[in-house]
Amino acid sequence: MHPQLAADLDQLPALLEITREHAAAFLTGLADRPVVRPGEPPAPAPLPERATGLRAALTEFAQRWEPALSGSAGPRYLGFVTGGATPAALAGDWLTATADQNSNSALDPAGQWLEAETIGWLRELFGLSAAHAGTFVSGATMSNTVGLAIAREWLGERLGVDVAEDGVGALGPVRVLSGAAHSSVAKALSVLGLGRRALHQVPTLPGREAVDPAELARALRAADGPCVVVANAGTVNTGDFDDLRAVAELCARHDAWLHVDGAFGAFAALAPERAQLVDGLEAADSVCVDLHKWLNVPYDSAVQFTRRPDLQARVFRNAAAYLGPLGERPDLVHLTPENSHRLRALAAWFTLRAYGRDGHREIVDRCLVGARALGEELAATAGLRLLAPVRLNVVCFTLAGDPTAERLAELAARVRAEVFVTPTVYDGVPALRAAFSNWRITEADVRRVAGVLAKAAAELTELD
Ligand SMILES: *Cc1c(COP(=O)(O)O)cnc(C)c1O
Repeated sequence: MHPQLAADLDQLPALLEITREHAAAFLTGLADRPVVRPGEPPAPAPLPERATGLRAALTEFAQRWEPALSGSAGPRYLGFVTGGATPAALAGDWLTATADQNSNSALDPAGQWLEAETIGWLRELFGLSAAHAGTFVSGATMSNTVGLAIAREWLGERLGVDVAEDGVGALGPVRVLSGAAHSSVAKALSVLGLGRRALHQVPTLPGREAVDPAELARALRAADGPCVVVANAGTVNTGDFDDLRAVAELCARHDAWLHVDGAFGAFAALAPERAQLVDGLEAADSVCVDLHKWLNVPYDSAVQFTRRPDLQARVFRNAAAYLGPLGERPDLVHLTPENSHRLRALAAWFTLRAYGRDGHREIVDRCLVGARALGEELAATAGLRLLAPVRLNVVCFTLAGDPTAERLAELAARVRAEVFVTPTVYDGVPALRAAFSNWRITEADVRRVAGVLAKAAAELTELD
């Protein structure tokens, strides 16, 4: 063994202790860390030729890289849809790396068992039944990709062709219908060889991002042959929901696969007064739920649920002599694009075990209260206006007067040391959005965010 490796092995408990202290200091300092710090990358360092050990690496990381890291684990990082990591989730993630399992095969089964238990808990949390098999993947984009890959295989089944064996060319043109699909759906269609143009936008209800069921019915009638519907449970601009029950009935009537993108919106199931938004979720053929958003586990973690794990195994089957036959319940190696499978479920297991349904419901509730309060504050702020009612956890707002993308970028840049919001265009209007999904959010944070945005808006108006 290299002497430096041997030395680090020898001192492992002490080195882990130093690393733990370092992590604790990072988390304690979150409140004071600029939420996002712009600037240049550190000057490049050459490939280290000689071993100097973990202690030296930690020192250099702390000096060169850590100052540039954002406060994305903290409560005022409201860009995209970003969760933090609960204490238990963080511990679970540490232990995932500690045990370093490859949980993909029954030849070494404990990881698969733990994943199955966690999937069962998540299924209950979101009101799904045992009819939905679930698999951990790295994020909602991958979950949408896997869900749509299963849908592609289902289209083949309906048309009497074997896509997994003969390729997507055997299918002919495919129609994927959606009201306000997330950008990752188009990406998934590109990856899957169906093509971005397979996505047909169905008109939404007036002033909404929810699909118009009458328009969807029309589109389904017009399609000659089976198609795929992507329903949206929580849109990123305004947190809007399709009427899942109505969409599910249409899919059943018109021979369509129903994929629901509930990346963060599925968490509405936890909040009693919003749970009706996901009414009908259990009718879906495939469901995408992100966990590194509102479950507050570290990146990267999401789940793909489906009623057709048999089709999933047809797509992702990785036949090899040393991996054994597929069998009744295929190993995880046969169910997702990856072959090796991190024990990703452990962080979710820990946070669910530690805080349970009621702890996670409280996180969701507090985010909803925060989003509503910020929406009310911004609506009452001269110089700003809300672009949509706050339906869930997203506040979509813009500058009063003539909001241009440039002026909004200026507004976002002025506040980013204290609050991070990200740009969008909603209904043709350049806008900013603040999404609440971090477990650390407090009333004081919301007041601070509202104050900082109001001040920056006033400064910008003065400059005009
Ligand atoms: C975030 C999000 C995605 C993509 O999620 P990643 O985890 O970034 O891959 C897909 N759909 C919706 C609705 C989302 O909010």
